[in-house]
Amino acid sequence: KLVSREYREADTIIEINGVQIGGPSLVVMAGPCSIEGREQLLSTAEAVKAAGATILRGGAFKPRTSPYSFQGMGEDGLKLLAEARELTGMPVITEVMDTEQVDLVAEYADILQLGARNMQNFALLKRVGRTRRPVMLKRGLSSTVKDWLLSAEYIMAEGNQAVILCERGIRTFDDHSRGTFDLSVVPVLRELTHLPIIVDPSHATGRWQSILPMSRAGIASGADGLMIEVHPNPAEAWSDGEQSLLPERFVELMEQVERIADAM
Ligand code: PEP
Ligand code: MN
Repeated sequence: KLVSREYREADTIIEINGVQIGGPSLVVMAGPCSIEGREQLLSTAEAVKAAGATILRGGAFKPRTSPYSFQGMGEDGLKLLAEARELTGMPVITEVMDTEQVDLVAEYADILQLGARNMQNFALLKRVGRTRRPVMLKRGLSSTVKDWLLSAEYIMAEGNQAVILCERGIRTFDDHSRGTFDLSVVPVLRELTHLPIIVDPSHATGRWQSILPMSRAGIASGADGLMIEVHPNPAEAWSDGEQSLLPERFVELMEQVERIADAM
């Protein structure tokens, strides 16, 4: 299989505008859960860049559990994301939820994110496999490693080899946090696949108090990088405020994880 170490022995390194994902340097994707407006996105983008983040995240099409929750700014959000990229020089990542949105999102985004809820949306996997944009595939809420890698295979089988895997927590019996952050999957993935591995403690734990320690653990586990939600005013965030870090806490996170990455 194309995902396997047998097929390709060396780690895959994906390069976007000089930023390498899967190489020796730490990659941190940070930004708000949802794009809420120009000031919110641009101020967060400047703050995470100053702290050392290399890729800007921000959702414009949001997979919300409730149909009555904020669904995202759509194309207006994508335009703000493009403006933030222009301003900061950071590549941007955003979620695409539907085959019909792929061309639109690919116009604005440097990396297409496939969310946990769409990990086995096979039509969408095939469709992003026919674009030239790198794809970050988040692990499904109850997916085994085998399911996950076969979903990556769907993308690669269509010709797109630039796939990034993202562990974002899975459903287990316990509810002390939003999900169970399965960091023990990292060394297993390292053996099975050459693809870059990102870990997302924000969606995995759902609690800002857990983000610093679990980011340290994520880098120590051997992941190539992190995805972190940051918001200038988490209490007022339109989505995922409870798990979003204030910019000043994100600065502290970067200092700590950089030290761990350097020591590895
Ligand atoms: C996100 O990263 O914005 C998101 C919705 O994550 P997940 O698909 O992991 O729930
Ligand atoms: Mn979120």
